[in-house]
Amino acid sequence: AADHGGSADSCRVRVAVRLRPKNSEDLAHGADFDSCVELQPESKRLKLKKNNWSCETYRFDEVFSENASQRRVYEAVAKPVVESVLEGYNGTVMAYGQTGTGKTYTVGRLGKDDPSERGIMVRALEHIFSSMSVKTDRVTISYLQLYLESVQDLLAPEKNNIPIVEDAKTGEVCLPGAAIVEVKDLEHVFHLLQIGEANRHAANTKMNTESSRSHAILIIHLQRSSRIKEENSSSLANDTHEIFPNDLPLVIKSKLLIVDLAGSERIDKSGSEGHMIEEAKFINLSLTSLGKCINALAENSPHVPTRDSKLTRILRDSFGGTARTSLVVTIGPSARHYSETSSTVMFGQRAM
Ligand code: ADP
Ligand code: MG
Repeated sequence: AADHGGSADSCRVRVAVRLRPKNSEDLAHGADFDSCVELQPESKRLKLKKNNWSCETYRFDEVFSENASQRRVYEAVAKPVVESVLEGYNGTVMAYGQTGTGKTYTVGRLGKDDPSERGIMVRALEHIFSSMSVKTDRVTISYLQLYLESVQDLLAPEKNNIPIVEDAKTGEVCLPGAAIVEVKDLEHVFHLLQIGEANRHAANTKMNTESSRSHAILIIHLQRSSRIKEENSSSLANDTHEIFPNDLPLVIKSKLLIVDLAGSERIDKSGSEGHMIEEAKFINLSLTSLGKCINALAENSPHVPTRDSKLTRILRDSFGGTARTSLVVTIGPSARHYSETSSTVMFGQRAM
């Protein structure tokens, strides 16, 4: 990835809130349905009503109502990150929220037949494909699940416990053994994301857990021939050998991580079975540790504690520094979930 040029603003995590439309459970309450959320998209504010006497207002970089299209969300949240990845920087886009509030809808929705439904993963790859001009440019993807501090390959499910290794010189984070698949068109992407989804489901059935308990991480690697080479070679009558006497490849590598985080709801530890308690501990560990890192970035702290969990170790080189990061916080409207919604909104607020 490129070394320089990150502006002060790109260090900060950009945070958007997205409100899910009422679902059938909400609608079942009919006239009694009580919403605890009021949005003011023009001023990018969100009002959270605890009861008739008490309410808090929060401001974010973007506030999306239940009518916001997938396209608008992509353009405001992910597009700037993808553009910077196309320029050679690393980047991360994450969705955080309670189960059922629209994380997977926002990032993982395929929309094979209806392009307007497509989520961030598919749109990012569409955007990347349309920007890759040179034949030597390469796009590869890896698709992983992180569950109980164990990294599993969603494209090659026999691979479990993939290590996270950091190059001592470059600081580049690698996952040796994880499948890396070159993708050239959207059909192939749909195919791989579907395989990943099926493997995620199968793995979780086998482990007797729900996918809401694990993080899904799509890593898109870009490898681009430098634009300098393009420009020089055309202006110098295509004599590339004069510029690159040893045929040194001038290649820029960068990557984009798109993360569908585990549900942020607090897991009831009392009365859980053994593995549920373990689960609660680890999920809370990775989300808590992510929160600490986001907090450190927001405060411009020189120390971002990325080593505390596997999630933040995977994010380490795509987060902070010159990397751009966007977080979408998803919430539902119902007052019945006020306390989860409130803690979700507060998590997002810590990044501001
Ligand atoms: P999560 O991944 O956070 O558990 P999902 O993305 O699975 O939540 O969303 C739960 C349900 O709500 C799904 O049926 C999804 O299609 C629907 N949904 C979520 N957000 C939206 C939205 N913005 N517009 C329409 N439907 C949505
Ligand atoms: Mg989901």
